[in-house]
Amino acid sequence: METYQAILIHPNSNGGRISGFISLKNNGVYFESETFKYHIGFSNLSISAGGASNRFIFLKDNTQNEISIYTSQKSILKHPLLVSNSNLKKQIKKSNNELKKTFRGTLLVLTFIVALLGGLYLLKDKMVENLAQQVPISWEQNVGDKLFTTLSLQYHFITNDSLKKEFTQVAQPLIKQIEKKGYKVDFYFVKDPTINAFALPGGKVIIQTGLIENAKSWEEVMGVLSHELAHVTRRHHIRGIINNLGVFTILSLTFGDISAIAGTFINMGGELASLSNSRDFENEADETGRMYLINGKINPSGLISFFETIEKEERTMLDSTAVKDIDLSFLSTHPDIKTRILQLKQKQKKDTTKYPSIQYSFKDFKNKVLNLK
Ligand SMILES: [Zn+2]
Repeated sequence: METYQAILIHPNSNGGRISGFISLKNNGVYFESETFKYHIGFSNLSISAGGASNRFIFLKDNTQNEISIYTSQKSILKHPLLVSNSNLKKQIKKSNNELKKTFRGTLLVLTFIVALLGGLYLLKDKMVENLAQQVPISWEQNVGDKLFTTLSLQYHFITNDSLKKEFTQVAQPLIKQIEKKGYKVDFYFVKDPTINAFALPGGKVIIQTGLIENAKSWEEVMGVLSHELAHVTRRHHIRGIINNLGVFTILSLTFGDISAIAGTFINMGGELASLSNSRDFENEADETGRMYLINGKINPSGLISFFETIEKEERTMLDSTAVKDIDLSFLSTHPDIKTRILQLKQKQKKDTTKYPSIQYSFKDFKNKVLNLK
């Protein structure tokens, strides 16, 4: 015989509640515990759903107001002895409807929560971008300086004024655009054969000699540089940090005051580990960098041809661990270079501009770099 876990509320019992089991027999409902027995005949039985969120099925004795039995096992409503009883039909139907209503209510609440979270997720990027806009550039420079100090221990920066001067002259059309936004661009060179360049928040750009040695033209180098500078102006570093704070902190900051995270930002931002760019950021930097090149009248095809060189030698080059050291490196492994080449080519197809050639000799500059001690 099927039994259901149940509670009996009875004035004669100790404390009013007794837990036990109910079973159904031909002449009614039987409650049984170790110490107590109770019987409700079908003719006096009333059934209803109740409790918080209709969690329980109540079985009451019509003749005894103070006595009732309830169970959380809703399957009791399907018991053949109840279903076949014509006097109980209406009550069972009503209870089932109550349960359905509750279920629909729960479903509605769940749907609402899912929609809200979904909406938040979609809005998150916008909120993060908005918050990043509110962060003063001085914070970013502060973080960039901290990172630079850490890097100085790891990298040996070349001090060569003429090298820096020439590079700065060629990059002038890009620098102008970035400094208009309030950043101070500065270049640092490192003697390292690995193809790499990366920008720190605030505007310091580190260029490894391998980048120059493997490039075929100024346009290629400027393509890489424009991408790096775009990471700075699109504030990818700080957006990455804010993104990591989680959606609820982001939400509260959106309606609060950004200065609340000043401390967090400075501390968190100063770690090299937080230097990483998502696939979206890489695409955004390619796109924005391309715009800087076009505005600066530098042929954006350079970035494409440089990517193509890299792609050909990708396997051997990516073997070198230095590239993977810092995720922010130009050669981040995602999105893959093939996709980036395709995307850039697609956009370049529509560009019919005739770009002037860069008047400084790349060959001479490259020789200087190759002869660095
Ligand atoms: Zn990048």
